[in-house]
Amino acid sequence: MGVVRMYACGCGYSKEICVGSGMGAFNINLVKRLFPQEAAMIDVSRGPGEFELANAVGECLSCKKLYATAMLTYKGGVATKPCPDCGKPLMISDINNVNCPVCSELMNWQEVGLWD
Ligand SMILES: [Zn+2]
Ligand SMILES: [Zn+2]
Repeated sequence: MGVVRMYACGCGYSKEICVGSGMGAFNINLVKRLFPQEAAMIDVSRGPGEFELANAVGECLSCKKLYATAMLTYKGGVATKPCPDCGKPLMISDINNVNCPVCSELMNWQEVGLWD
């Protein structure tokens, strides 16, 4: 189960983001849809533990915004999705230490809910 976090900065920027893993964490069909290239390298016959899909906090340096982004961890490494607005790679933040995309200050966060 993942949690919904509200990230807020003193400058006024705030964003609600679902982080962690939901029901889709070990769903290979979801991986195939989100990361087709990487999915082809995953051998599902080897059982669970070959991959994990989770939501991460991504920062786009161009758009100066935070995004909830899918992140796939597998044997070949870690794959993430690009910025949904401009297509540039997102910088993945440590979910406990997210810097504001507008003013670069460390943001406060609180859990506001759960998702699955
Ligand atoms: Zn962008
Ligand atoms: Zn800020």
